[in-house]
Amino acid sequence: MTVADRRTQLATARQEVLDRIARACAAAGRESAEVTLVAITKTYPASDVLLLAELGVTDVGENRDQEAAPKAAALAAAGARVRWHFVGQLQRNKARSVARYADVVESVDSVRLAAALDRAAAEERSAPLDVLVQISVDGDAARGGAVAGAGDPDRDLWRVADTVAAADGLRLAGVMAVAPLDWEPDRAFATLSALAARLTERHPGATVVSAGMSGDLEVAVRHGATHVRIGSSLLGMRNTLR
Ligand SMILES: *Cc1c(COP(=O)(O)O)cnc(C)c1O
Repeated sequence: MTVADRRTQLATARQEVLDRIARACAAAGRESAEVTLVAITKTYPASDVLLLAELGVTDVGENRDQEAAPKAAALAAAGARVRWHFVGQLQRNKARSVARYADVVESVDSVRLAAALDRAAAEERSAPLDVLVQISVDGDAARGGAVAGAGDPDRDLWRVADTVAAADGLRLAGVMAVAPLDWEPDRAFATLSALAARLTERHPGATVVSAGMSGDLEVAVRHGATHVRIGSSLLGMRNTLR
């Protein structure tokens, strides 16, 4: 496919996603401007990220440091400015690398990871790093996410949030979740919304709710998502399951 064809394809897909967001907002009595599209570009080349940036996409998400770091460098070298969201499971030994290029880390789900990211941010950055606490909606910490009232204090949602909020190198911006495979998205995002409201009471600046992917963005918008993370509806089906 030529670059021009790919540009047309991405432009069409982006417009379709923006139309879906606009319709979902209208149905929910919300303004489209309240919802930010985060393009999840994992498995797709930096050339696609550049085309998306040229089309007006402002926010881009990746889930692996070894893939995200060179893409962020390529976009910077091309003079393109996007906000990089890290949305994947993050090993503590990758915290320094991610702190260099990420604008937002959406997947902080333990006190220890928050502490490692705080140290990394202090060393690598001049401004604090925005953090979303990833919530395990079904309370199964094994699949990632912090749990409200977890038995393991390292994974307790409120402790993780308080740790981030108290960290000089981090700014607690809100929450993120993925709907569990075996839950109706409606139930998952209603649960998330209730926990997000409790978090905002405790930390008034933490207003971001990152929820909704290609298959369930409408439900997420209905439940108050401020950010939707869209991969396949924008870029096409991935060959791998990630
Ligand atoms: C891959 C991924 C997405 C995007 O999923 P699609 O179904 O392709 O839209 C969103 N969030 C996270 C955390 C992801 O890993």
